[in-house]
Amino acid sequence: MKMTIQTSVLTLKNYINGQWSEPISKQYEEVINPANQEVIAYAPLSTKEETELAIQAAKESFHSGIWASKTTHERAAVLVEIANKIDEMAEELTILETLDNGKRKDEASFDIADAATAFRYYAGLILHPDGETYPVPDNVQAMVIKEPIGVAGLIVPWNFPLLMAVWKIAPALAAGNSIVFKPSEVTPVTAMKLFEIMHDAGVPKGVANMVIGHGDPVGQTIAESIDVDIISFTGSTNTGRKIMQAASSNLKKISLELGGKSPNIIFADADLETAVDYGLFGIFYGAGQVCSSGSRILVEESIYDEFVARYIKRANNIKVGPGLAEETEMGAIVSEQQMNRILNYIESGIQEGATLATGGKRLIENGLDKGFFIAPTVFTDVTNDMRIVREEIFGPVVTIQKFHSEEEAIQLANDTDYGLAGGVFSNDGAKALRVIKKVRAGITWVNDYHPTYVEAPWGGYKQSGIGRSLGKYGLEEFQETKQINIRLNVEPNGWFN
Ligand code: NDP
Repeated sequence: MKMTIQTSVLTLKNYINGQWSEPISKQYEEVINPANQEVIAYAPLSTKEETELAIQAAKESFHSGIWASKTTHERAAVLVEIANKIDEMAEELTILETLDNGKRKDEASFDIADAATAFRYYAGLILHPDGETYPVPDNVQAMVIKEPIGVAGLIVPWNFPLLMAVWKIAPALAAGNSIVFKPSEVTPVTAMKLFEIMHDAGVPKGVANMVIGHGDPVGQTIAESIDVDIISFTGSTNTGRKIMQAASSNLKKISLELGGKSPNIIFADADLETAVDYGLFGIFYGAGQVCSSGSRILVEESIYDEFVARYIKRANNIKVGPGLAEETEMGAIVSEQQMNRILNYIESGIQEGATLATGGKRLIENGLDKGFFIAPTVFTDVTNDMRIVREEIFGPVVTIQKFHSEEEAIQLANDTDYGLAGGVFSNDGAKALRVIKKVRAGITWVNDYHPTYVEAPWGGYKQSGIGRSLGKYGLEEFQETKQINIRLNVEPNGWFN
């Protein structure tokens, strides 16, 4: 795209082989603040050519052993340094993330703190013993050890720009891989800061590379490359499918964290105020642009009317506005394209006969007309064949359905192609555990919704993905497993006389 670059606005660069570089195309795209459409940065429109340069730099650095052969103590020290620098720059990163993504400032602040925590966690994890030994027969000692995979291609979306980057970069580097990272073109700003931090913290040349650009060509080139050994992707299920196909070029390992349409089941014996509160938090946190959002609330018949009445009253009181405004409780939608996508889903819900109980429109009052804001939206009288119940909307839109029995709640909860997350609210501990165990999803909560911890695995069943981020599982995604068998009696075996 041809444009006049204003020098007062941040111009982002690629980071390839330890150098900051302009895109070969010399073309940039505007990055806007979705709360007011002001340009906050220019993002390179990179090409296949420089993506390949980044892959080659990663490959060479990996085979040189400059990072992979460092001791775990040395790698851990660099990761801790990165964490410390993130903490030092937390306020700046928080503001940039808020401006870039549109989220409420304290949501961004949690993301930045969690990013530092993830680097520290993986620094600690690699200092723990790993591997196993087995006293197998035949006078042999068998060992199992972990090794880095090689070049890791990392592609992330726009909803948690820095945190999603770190959920991949921290374990990939901790394990000793070299990386090629692509942020979302929509929200690339904090990624550049992170690469500055990694450079200053001593990540060696060629080990961490970043190419900013569109899914095709940049993401597609990474996914197709025969020199990339693992691809770790977070984003939509459709793009996940494309990546899986592209990854077949060299049968690279794949790790996919995809969409969700997660159920939040409220039983009549739940604490109603708590259930309403988390029902709101489950979908309106991040304006619903969260893969684990509880976008389908299922409520037991006997409390349905009261739940819905209380829920709508509170949804109507949510203050929507720019992320940096003190009073804002729910921020902007990340882009005009995403806003229109959400509004189309709302229209489809109305067309298919659901009752629009509240919201359902773009907000333009009180100066919001310059940004992309949608009112918290609640649909009732929905059926499981409607698109608003089946498809991931990724916005502040929730459906509330009635169930009559525990069996029906489980059946409705699992009637989805997805299996990312789910919640149960009940004061009957045995029932809550019985039901959550039957929900076919990878991330679940009882009397809670949304919080996640770096120690615990994150990922989904069914079409919500393959593999897990975080915890020791997140590290193992970026490791190969090798067996070494050592004969303890060194002598011929005589098989062929
Ligand atoms: P995508 O899945 O298209 O984008 C996620 C990332 O993948 C971005 O960095 C994108 O780049 C990149 N990408 C796009 N196409 C390719 C490709 N062919 N090969 C490799 N990488 C690619 O999501 P969208 O941003 O288009 O959002 C659409 C919908 O996806 C949302 O409405 C939501 O339903 C879902 N979504 C789910 C997320 C989740 O965490 N589960 C996160 C984000 C979106 P670029 O930014 O340049 O397009």
